[in-house]
Amino acid sequence: MKYFSLNNNSPKVSFQDAVIKGIAPDKGLYFPENIKKLPKFFFENMENYSNHEIAFELIKQFVGDEIPEKDLKKIIADTLNFDFPLIEIEDGIFSLELFHGPTMAFKDVGGRFMARCLSFFNKGNDNKITILVATSGDTGGAVASGFLGVKGVNVVILYPSGKVSNVQEKQLTTLGQNIKALEVDGTFDDCQKMVKIAFLDTEITNQMQLTSANSINVSRWLPQMFYFAFAYKQLKNKQKNVVFSIPSGNYGNICAGMMAKQLGLPIFHFIAATNANRVVPNYFETGIYEPMKSIQTISNAMDVGDPSNFIRIQKIYKNNFKALKKDLSSYSFTDYETREAMLKIYNSSNYIADPHGAVGYLGLKKYLKKQSDILGVFLETAHPVKFLDVVEPVINKTIELPPQIKAVINKTKEATAIQSYDDLKSFLLNK
Ligand SMILES: *Cc1c(COP(=O)(O)O)cnc(C)c1O
Repeated sequence: MKYFSLNNNSPKVSFQDAVIKGIAPDKGLYFPENIKKLPKFFFENMENYSNHEIAFELIKQFVGDEIPEKDLKKIIADTLNFDFPLIEIEDGIFSLELFHGPTMAFKDVGGRFMARCLSFFNKGNDNKITILVATSGDTGGAVASGFLGVKGVNVVILYPSGKVSNVQEKQLTTLGQNIKALEVDGTFDDCQKMVKIAFLDTEITNQMQLTSANSINVSRWLPQMFYFAFAYKQLKNKQKNVVFSIPSGNYGNICAGMMAKQLGLPIFHFIAATNANRVVPNYFETGIYEPMKSIQTISNAMDVGDPSNFIRIQKIYKNNFKALKKDLSSYSFTDYETREAMLKIYNSSNYIADPHGAVGYLGLKKYLKKQSDILGVFLETAHPVKFLDVVEPVINKTIELPPQIKAVINKTKEATAIQSYDDLKSFLLNK
């Protein structure tokens, strides 16, 4: 499979190059040259396929012959070594729990898949790759965990000081080995901006092979298609339309769901649910797409003012606003509404949602006001324990720490504080 830049000003590249480079030289995101629908038979008979088989069918055209079938199947099996439970919390409303991986957020899927692809491509190559990644909280942990101890790969993570939860900070600053954390005096957008500048800075790129591990990278973005299909598989015999509500920040997760739909997965509608960072909900109201400064909220993984993957969504829908509106609704919710939803879900369903999942739930409820008789799935993108400081006071209950968290919570943080792009540059060049 070839990938082209959405800025249309760079040569086409292979899957391998798209994975290693992350972003095109013209700063565009890579996008697959063609998308081939899978046979109807596959979706009609999904219950006869294992999750690993489903994942293989969905991803294989995007990898092409660049990873042999046997190795790709192994990568998938290693990536998906945990469960994706679908929990019915109200009649017809399901939480798709994506947090059973090592760092307890959905990003483990993309992080693990990417790490394994990169390690496959880098086999027998003496040159080290440096992964440079900005995180609003969960990406850093998932990427760090996915790449920990992977030979030939160094990971440098930028995170906004004081704007990630305690658990998240521990997950990305305590691993050691080939993982380094930089604590940035600024917002997530500042971190992302610095990463983007570094990729274009030839003084850096002449010295080291840099790659991204944000959902910009196709190998992190595309495997997120998998769990939409896993959920659909469990719901298809109910013979109702299935709608997904996705708590969205950089819009990579939802955009992967849209790719799954392009392949033929029968998804009736998508809901992009978000917090006060309402660039996309505004766009749906006014038709004007206007990035803004990010606003800090209790669902911090969605504190994104300039969602990097929205351009891929525009591409999927051929820049046709009407077509997009048919498939996507987008709503924004306040922190107050989010807390209220968490409490309501806890009181009436005895279920603990994290702030992001609660936003997804709210999006689904809002959509259900105009469309009934559907099955609604909201993505529970992180375990509530990752946002203890927010969740515990709302539900007035102590949450038991799962083993993945116990393992890091008392370790000592190791991070280098940086203020500016120049600090990042000297850090990278002095290594
Ligand atoms: C990253 C993240 C999101 C947002 O996902 P995008 O793909 O950036 O839209 C939502 N919830 C949680 C918990 C996250 O970590």
